[in-house]
Amino acid sequence: MPKQTVADVDIAGKRVLLRADLNVTFIPNTNVISDDSRIKAVMPTIDYLKSKGAKIILCSHLGRPKGRVVEELRLTPVANRLKELITDGFSYVSDVIGPAVESEVDEMREGDVLLLENLRFYPGEESNDAEFAKGLSRFADVYVNDAFGAAHRAHASVHAITELLPAVAGFQMSQEIEMLGSTVDNPQRPLLAVMGGAKVSDKILVLQKLIDRIDRLIIGGGMAATFLKALGHEMGKSAIEEDRFDLVKSALSKANDMGVNVVLPVDFVVARSFCEEAEPVIVKFDEVPADGFIMDIGPSTIEEFKMSILGSKTVIWNGPMGVFEWTSFSKGTSAVALAIAGLKSATTVVGGGSTAEAVETFGVSDRMSHVSIGGGASLEFMEGKELPAVAVLPDREN
Ligand code: ADP
Ligand code: MG
Repeated sequence: MPKQTVADVDIAGKRVLLRADLNVTFIPNTNVISDDSRIKAVMPTIDYLKSKGAKIILCSHLGRPKGRVVEELRLTPVANRLKELITDGFSYVSDVIGPAVESEVDEMREGDVLLLENLRFYPGEESNDAEFAKGLSRFADVYVNDAFGAAHRAHASVHAITELLPAVAGFQMSQEIEMLGSTVDNPQRPLLAVMGGAKVSDKILVLQKLIDRIDRLIIGGGMAATFLKALGHEMGKSAIEEDRFDLVKSALSKANDMGVNVVLPVDFVVARSFCEEAEPVIVKFDEVPADGFIMDIGPSTIEEFKMSILGSKTVIWNGPMGVFEWTSFSKGTSAVALAIAGLKSATTVVGGGSTAEAVETFGVSDRMSHVSIGGGASLEFMEGKELPAVAVLPDREN
């Protein structure tokens, strides 16, 4: 069901509390943002609100400060990036609620954007506390939720707040709901799911759900090792989730019963140690050396996967094909990204934090129909679960 959006309500000159998901990733041990796509994702809503002369009070969480102030988790790097994107009328205040923030809000002019500090510095955020939500609601006339990545949590700034202010979805949120919903519920066929990433356990629930609906399935990434091991092949030193063998086998037999075409890797790029400098070696899927780690899909697998991608009318992609962060092991993920991006007249939906980052790295984000900013949220949504923060937003009538 579509949600009411920011375009459905009178927003002119109003004070708008805009919840975004600015929980960006950083280059390890630095405060340099490695992927700013979550920041960019809220810009259409900000630009729209600005054009209507709203006063925009922007808020987000970052990381897991667990209800106290953690200096390294201030939103300063996010504020610096926003300052580049919002050329005029942007400011940042180093608290979330209280008189200091209120006086900043009082000074705002129409079209201004004020970024609040990390919501999770207050324990009331994660405990969905009504008092904390009240503190937030005091600044604003309308609440807009554009934080799909946080929608699977019932936290104060996405849940309790909706009891206190008229609430609507932002453009990113409404696009997420529409695109993820329609690809699962009403897809153009053939529908292909491309699954990868580190672990089977992260994705097996959504996979079981998807098998009923898909026509084709590609399995790559680290999770391919558990699939192939479950089928009796040695996978060297690759991480294996033995406790998922039964689920894997039942997923495969269900796929077989349903006539889903499953494509597993026929070769791999392996390494003798799990590190960036390790020498890449190509082996067949059933010849993984005892001391080898699977790092990427091999060249023949790339060709097989491309064949399966070709002709698909809808593609859901979640999880990289290898350790794409390291150049020697990025070929599989980049080839799959390019093949999906190259599909003509197909709906292509990318979910998962790392997958979104890969698509951005390989320069094809703009050629996908939709890149979700939600990792866990997009998986839970596609599993068919009702997301608490989505459930409390009013549906659009008609
Ligand atoms: P997403 O965030 O897109 O949902 P995941 O979190 O499931 O994806 O997995 C992403 C991680 O999986 C990446 O950091 C990538 O390096 C890792 N990965 C992919 N293939 C392998 C592999 N063969 N061995 C180990 N790690 C892998
Ligand atoms: Mg991830």
